[in-house]
Amino acid sequence: MSDAKELESIAIRAKDIKKTFVKSGLISSIEEKVIDGLSFVVKRGEIVGVVGPSGSGKSTLGRIVAGLEGYLGSVKVLGREVRDWVRKDRRGFARSVQIVFQDPLSSIDPLYKIGTYLYEAIKIHYPDRKRDWRKFAMYYLELVGLSGELISRYPKQLSGGQRQRVAIARALMVQPEVIVFDEVTSSLDRRIERQIVGLIKRLQGQFNWSGLFITHDLALADELCQRIINL
Ligand code: ADP
Ligand code: MG
Repeated sequence: MSDAKELESIAIRAKDIKKTFVKSGLISSIEEKVIDGLSFVVKRGEIVGVVGPSGSGKSTLGRIVAGLEGYLGSVKVLGREVRDWVRKDRRGFARSVQIVFQDPLSSIDPLYKIGTYLYEAIKIHYPDRKRDWRKFAMYYLELVGLSGELISRYPKQLSGGQRQRVAIARALMVQPEVIVFDEVTSSLDRRIERQIVGLIKRLQGQFNWSGLFITHDLALADELCQRIINL
């Protein structure tokens, strides 16, 4: 495939990724191979599922793709090697690749309003929108099915499903090309889980980013994704 064609059609290309953690004990340290030679491709506009039992390396893979973890082998996002891109321009990389975790709002300062949480991302990635940040933030809240009024609420005043929508809104706000979802529905009940999966599906159709959907639940991945990576 020519370089231009590759860039046009491929969002993520991973070749022979390896990741080892060293666990040091009292007497000796042991190496744990968490990922041992994994290769895969995510096409543009595709959400690929990442499935496996607890401890199988799903989050590690997600963190590698999102530039948060070192690795051996090659991971190219939009044709650029992640480790080089992150080293040269972490902010630019984060604008292209966002990651959403299980319940990110549970760990923010409880005195932060939802608006502050969203404003942070605007300040980092779109400083020229600081003046009309409220409009910007409210637009994205409405995009994920929430009322814009929520910018003046605190995380504790929101349900788990609402909090996860806010986290997705913040990721979208950055207008990324790739989004990694790591167990984003795992702390929600079934009914809300389905809503969030429906939301992700709808937003993908609307904005056409590519994604990795990490879950321990094969049936859920099957519902959202045409292709699955089994770890
Ligand atoms: P999963 O998300 O599939 O449950 P993880 O990627 O979180 O799996 O973890 C895979 C394995 O790697 C586990 O055995 C875990 O203990 C280990 N691991 C993950 N992160 C670290 C780390 N920072 N240091 C040492 N070991 C780690
Ligand atoms: Mg995990």
